[in-house]
Amino acid sequence: MKEISRIAAAVKASTTLKVDALYKQMKAEGIDVVGFGAGEPDFDTPDNISEAAHRAIRDGQTKYTPANGIPALRQAAADRLLADCGVQYGAGQIVVASGAKHSVYIALRALINDGDEVIIPAPYWVTYAESVSMTGGVPVIISAPASAGFKITGEQLEGAITDKTKLLIINNPSNPTGALYGADELKEIADVCVKHDLYIMSDEIYYRLVYDGKSFVSAASLGEKVKERTILVNGVSKSYAMTGWRIGYTASNPMLAEVMSNYLSHSTHSPSTISQFAAVEALSGSQDSVEDMRLVFERRRDYIVDRINAIDGVSCLKPDGAFYIMLNIEKLIGRTLGGRVINDSDDFSLAFLESGLVAVVSCSGFGCDNYVRMTYAASDDSIRKGLDRLAEFVRA
Ligand code: PMP
Ligand code: GLU
Repeated sequence: MKEISRIAAAVKASTTLKVDALYKQMKAEGIDVVGFGAGEPDFDTPDNISEAAHRAIRDGQTKYTPANGIPALRQAAADRLLADCGVQYGAGQIVVASGAKHSVYIALRALINDGDEVIIPAPYWVTYAESVSMTGGVPVIISAPASAGFKITGEQLEGAITDKTKLLIINNPSNPTGALYGADELKEIADVCVKHDLYIMSDEIYYRLVYDGKSFVSAASLGEKVKERTILVNGVSKSYAMTGWRIGYTASNPMLAEVMSNYLSHSTHSPSTISQFAAVEALSGSQDSVEDMRLVFERRRDYIVDRINAIDGVSCLKPDGAFYIMLNIEKLIGRTLGGRVINDSDDFSLAFLESGLVAVVSCSGFGCDNYVRMTYAASDDSIRKGLDRLAEFVRA
């Protein structure tokens, strides 16, 4: 048989989804495993949102919609961006897709020509590097080390730019590190992008999950010159506990919005109509549940950080946002845990799952060594149990 697509054949399965599938399979087999793997709120979707979906079905809202989403949802997204981030977009600049992961892909499709370089600060969400490669681009990884709070500087960015650089991907607050860029830090980076005529993809899907009274600053709020070259990526999965509904969106300049809509019109068409109606309620209905969930995440973060830093051999920084912890396992390298010699974070995550019965994600897929990612989008009981197991596992 003839060779299949080289680009497709080179795609690696998502490490986050792999861990999640393994965890769910072990659970289904009746194993008492704790899941700190995939970042997915453990809460149910708030009732007002689910009810809007029921209503949509009862009202016969079960037909095709425009490829870029129903006007009410695009307007609701634009209104929310204005209310929360102070950025003004018309409904025509919003493009709805089947989850923010899909929005990332569509945005890259709209921007990348073969060989274009895309700068990605590491640790990064695993999907960025893969989807750049999937669209013919070349990921260029720069390091955002723990010593810099897992953030990059404008100077660092400038050092990585070549005449092939097309785009910077920034995730604020970050998955997997929880790092949050302040206005000055973000402006320094954005100024470099303007100076070198780069696009910015700013994935702001965790923007509602910011702690200690800190403020979130959207890249698009840094002035017109930055906004016109920025594609904001956002969605309802994380803030509204709607991971399974598959609704994400971009906000961009009208030309890019049109290109992305055209692309969607031949690929997915649109996300589920019913999910779109639910997302209208999420974005425009009561926001009380968002704050309720945020407070729970903040409390869990405090607990998990304190417990980890009290365990000999592991440590973590206190993240400012999202719902992830980077567990530093450097001191465990070379030790034997759960019958396995720990040479790297892959070994640790495997041993911890097999012998400690806790699922975490090795950060090798996030472009960094000696860390595993734990999510605190898990119930209080699971967090307590998982940390007891961590203490036990590391002591062994
Ligand atoms: N961006 C980041 C940084 C994420 O962690 C996720 C999690 N899946 C997404 C985008 C995509 O979310 P979804 O596709 O569920 O909207
Ligand atoms: N974004 C979440 C995570 O990083 C869900 C899984 C995925 O989409 O990668 O765990």
